[in-house]
Amino acid sequence: MTNDPPTPQQRAAQIAVEIAALGPCLPGTLSSRMLRCGNPNCRCRDTETDQRHGPYLYWTRKISGKTVSKLLNAEQADRYRPWLANDKRLHQLVRELEALTIRTVEQAEGWGGEIALEKCGTRDRRFLSELFGFR
Ligand SMILES: [Zn+2]
Repeated sequence: MTNDPPTPQQRAAQIAVEIAALGPCLPGTLSSRMLRCGNPNCRCRDTETDQRHGPYLYWTRKISGKTVSKLLNAEQADRYRPWLANDKRLHQLVRELEALTIRTVEQAEGWGGEIALEKCGTRDRRFLSELFGFR
């Protein structure tokens, strides 16, 4: 083993291995909210003591640009938490693979930073496979 940083091809292969091992990837975020109910006489209405109900756990994501939240119980939140973390990691890895590919393309073509990010997006699968030898 040497301490040399991996070549772009080696790093791309590492990324592919990590993505393959991720498991379920749940998009969105988990958040906790304290809420006031509709009863005007409830203790939760007292703003000085702040006895709001909760915490309530929500899974929130975007669907066609609209924010959608689902109320979760504690068991569901515990079950989905690692899947949400997996999805964050998946997006990090995809961005890294794109950045790596952009650098490789720039060097190969002598373009020096002129290529736009969208030119190397997920549409260009065939180019990626020729460059790195995977699907
Ligand atoms: Zn209340």
